[in-house]
Amino acid sequence: MTVRTRVAPSPTGDPHVGTAYIALFNYCFAKHHGGEFILRIEDTDQVRSTRESEEAILASLRWLGLSWAEGPDVGGPHGPYRQSERSAIYAAHAEELIAKGHAFKCFCTEEHLRGVRKAQEEAGGYQGYDGRCIGLSASEVAAKEAAGEAWVVRMKVPREGVCQLQDRLRGVIEIAWDQVDMQVLLKSDGLPTYHLANVVDDHLMGITHVLRGEEWISSAPKHQLLYSYFGWEMPELCHLPLLRNPDKSKLSKRKNPTSILYYERMGVLPQALLNYLGMMAWSMPDGEEVFSLESMAERFELDRVSLGGPVFDLDKLRWLNGRYLREQLDADAFAAAVSAWALNPAYLRSIIPLVQQRVTALSDLGELTAHFFKGADLKLTPEALASKKLTSEQVVQALAWGLWQLEALRTWEASSISEVLRQTAELLGHKTRDFMPPFFIAISGSAVSTPLFETMEVIGPDLSRARVRAALEVLGGVSKKQEKRWREELERALRAPAE
Ligand code: GLU
Repeated sequence: MTVRTRVAPSPTGDPHVGTAYIALFNYCFAKHHGGEFILRIEDTDQVRSTRESEEAILASLRWLGLSWAEGPDVGGPHGPYRQSERSAIYAAHAEELIAKGHAFKCFCTEEHLRGVRKAQEEAGGYQGYDGRCIGLSASEVAAKEAAGEAWVVRMKVPREGVCQLQDRLRGVIEIAWDQVDMQVLLKSDGLPTYHLANVVDDHLMGITHVLRGEEWISSAPKHQLLYSYFGWEMPELCHLPLLRNPDKSKLSKRKNPTSILYYERMGVLPQALLNYLGMMAWSMPDGEEVFSLESMAERFELDRVSLGGPVFDLDKLRWLNGRYLREQLDADAFAAAVSAWALNPAYLRSIIPLVQQRVTALSDLGELTAHFFKGADLKLTPEALASKKLTSEQVVQALAWGLWQLEALRTWEASSISEVLRQTAELLGHKTRDFMPPFFIAISGSAVSTPLFETMEVIGPDLSRARVRAALEVLGGVSKKQEKRWREELERALRAPAE
C-alpha cells in the first residue's frame, strides 16, 4: 500500500501557522514511508472562502519549502482538487446514501428547528435534530418536493450506544451516539457540508492516513459512520495536538500573530519557521534542535508525537531563527535572505507610492521608511502615545476598540481599514483627527509619516495588529475586567444603529 496523506485547508483567511504545522507532519509521514502528500482545498463554505485566501495559503506553504504531488495548482489523477468543483460527485453520493436508507431528505424549516432547539434547551439541554423527517414515506417526500418545499439531506445516526474510534496516538476514543447530531450532508442549495465532502474525497483520492488537528475528534464518529454506510475502508486517523499560546489557550490571533505572512514580514527564515513547527509535538530522536525538512522526514515517526499541548512561543522561534541567521548562512546566502525578505522589487514597489512625493533625495528613504522594515516593537514610550485631545484612558480605549475592530476585519485594504477605524471613532464619539494620531504612532512610530491606512495595508493585518497591541502594552495594557466591559460596550454600540 502506498501511503497517501493530505492537507485540506479551508481558504477562509490568512495562511495560518496551524495549517503549516499539520501540512508538515503529513508531508513528513508520507515521505518517511515513500508515499505521497497531496493538497486539497476545502471551500465548501461559499460565503467565507475566497480565491485570494487560497492563493495566499498555497504561496505560504511553498515559501516554507513544502511541496505536494497533487493539488489544485499542479493537477493530478484524482482532481479536481477544489471541492467547489466537485459538487456533482457529492450530490451523487448523497443520493446513494438515501437509496441505501442511511440518509434522508429533511424538509424542516429554520423556524421548526429553532423551536426544537428552544424546547430542548428549556427541558435540560440541546439534543440535536429531533428525527421528524426520518419516517416520511416515499410518497410524502414526493408530494413535498412537488409542492416546492426546500430540503436538505441528513445522515441517520444511532441514538443509543457508544461510538468507538481508533486513533493512532490516543488509542480507542469513545463518544456516545446521543452526542452526535444527525448531520446535514447536503444543503438546500445542493452543496455539501464539510463532513460529506471530506469523507468522499479522502476515499476517492486514496488517502490512507488522516493526520489533522484534535478539534476534529468530535466529527470523527460521523465520518466513521459515513465510511461504513458507503462500505469503504476508513483511513487511519491521527489527531495531532493543537498549537497553544504560552498561557496554554488555543493559539489565536487575539493573543499571538497566527499568520505565516506575519512571520515572513518579521524576517523569520522559512526554513527556521518550518524547523520550529517541527518542534511542536515532535522532537528528533537525538534531541537535535536545528534540523532540515529532509532530515525530519527521514527520521519521522508518529509514535514520537507527544500529546502535551505544544506551545508556539515567539521568543523560542526568535532564538531558533537567530541560530539559523548566525550559523546556517554564509554572507552570500544571508544577503539573498535579506533580499527575499524586504529588499526586493515587489516589496519596495508597494512602498514607493507612499513616499515618492515626499523625498528630495533617495537617502531620505532611510528615515521615511524605517517602519516598513521593523517588527512589532517600535520602542514606543507612553509620552509618544499621549494625545493632546484625549485623556490617557481614552487613548487606551481607542486603541483597544480599534484593535478589536481590526481583528474582525475580513478584507485588509486601505479603504476597509479606514472605514472601520472611522466607524470606531464615531462609536466612541471622537473626531477622526483626535482618534487617529495614537494609531499613527503605534503603526509608524511617529506622527509624521506615511499615510496610515495604506501603510497598514502594506505591512499586513498581523503586523498592524501586533503593533497596536504593543502600543497598548506600553500604556499599561487593558485589564481582564476592563476588556470584558469594553467588549460588551463595543458590541452594544455596533448593534445600536440597527435597533
Ligand atoms: N478543512 C478542514 C480544515 O480546515 C480539514 C479538516 C480535516 O483535515 O479533515 O482544517
